[in-house]
Amino acid sequence: MKENNQERRGSRGRRRFRHDHESPRVVIPPQDCAVCGTPIAEMASAVAWSTEKRPAHFDCVLQELTKRETLVDAEKIAYLGSGMFGVIVEKENSRFEVHRKIMVDDPASAPEWRREIRTLYKR
Ligand SMILES: [Zn+2]
Repeated sequence: MKENNQERRGSRGRRRFRHDHESPRVVIPPQDCAVCGTPIAEMASAVAWSTEKRPAHFDCVLQELTKRETLVDAEKIAYLGSGMFGVIVEKENSRFEVHRKIMVDDPASAPEWRREIRTLYKR
C-alpha cells in the first residue's frame, strides 16, 4: 500500500515574498501618510501608526518614535520585525542591544487597509 498523499504538501501556511524575482506586481492605491500627509507610494511597506492604525511611511514612524522616546547616549530607534520597533544601542560587529521594545504595528490586530492589501496580493 502506497501513501503518497504527503507529496508536495510540505509548504503549508503563510508564504512570504522572497527577495528574489518573485516581486509582486500589484498596484495598491496609495493613501496619505498619517504623519507627513503625503501619499504612500508603497503601501505594502506602510506601517500602521498610532491607535487609529492609519498607514504611515516607515521612515516617518522612525522619526516620530525618535521624537517620542527619550533617547539617551547612543540609543536609537530601529525596526526589530513583526511590527515591533525598539530602542537599541549598536555594538561592535554589527550587533546591537535592545533596551526597550515598542509594539507599533501589532500583526494580531491588522488594520482594514492592511487586510485589503493582503487580499490584493493573494490574487
Ligand atoms: Zn510620511
